[in-house]
Amino acid sequence: MRKKLIAANWKMYKTAEQALAFVSAVLPVVWEHTRDEIVLCPSFLAVPTVVEAVRGSQIGVGAQDVFWEKEGAYTGEVSAHMLTAAGCTHVIIGHSERRQYCGETDDMVNRKLRASLTAGLKPIVCVGELLAEREAGMTEDVLRRQCSAAFREISSGDAIPIIIAYEPVWAIGTGKTATPELAAEAHRTIRFEAEQAFGAGVATQMRILYGGSVKPDNARALMSQPEIDGALVGGASLEPKSFSAIVKW
Ligand code: PEP
Repeated sequence: MRKKLIAANWKMYKTAEQALAFVSAVLPVVWEHTRDEIVLCPSFLAVPTVVEAVRGSQIGVGAQDVFWEKEGAYTGEVSAHMLTAAGCTHVIIGHSERRQYCGETDDMVNRKLRASLTAGLKPIVCVGELLAEREAGMTEDVLRRQCSAAFREISSGDAIPIIIAYEPVWAIGTGKTATPELAAEAHRTIRFEAEQAFGAGVATQMRILYGGSVKPDNARALMSQPEIDGALVGGASLEPKSFSAIVKW
């Protein structure tokens, strides 16, 4: 059985002080929640505050990006080792907003993924098609291309911690959600690609999350799909009430 994971992607929201207020509100509500794993992904600057605030609970902390080199003259970047040293257990890689606004390519995603695995982080790798790609019937091709590029030069033995987030770009922040059936179909494509790369034994252990306008009122229908192993939540993760309601789907 794959334990479901609910991850909050706070994007460029919340100062350290606001992040602390969120954790203080959510912690008592989810303290005894063990059915699902919970991960909060604040901005880099709020990571130390959130790590400290969740200490002793079952909540993990992730970053929203990472650079692939260990250290060096890479102004503005943060390494995987720096993230683990700060207490991160997870990291989001290849979010569509980074692909769109920061020119992140499949090759960069692969490098970030390999660096994260080497450092012992659990990577949450985002894949997903644009609206035009879905309408052109290219969804399967896009997902297979993004996954096979991300998985390059990673051995089966190293691949188990990889988490994939299927995030159709047309559903992110738009209020449009993939139907549970559409999401489940995309998840099967992704797992098939993981099987090709790592073998069925590893692929069945990998978690595939859904992301794209997950809200309290659609969380249960999505999470009830056996193919959906959790959610990456943007907008609805910013408010303690809606995030807690999603966790308790
Ligand atoms: C995201 O940013 O990963 C996301 C899924 O955002 P939203 O839930 O707001 O669509």
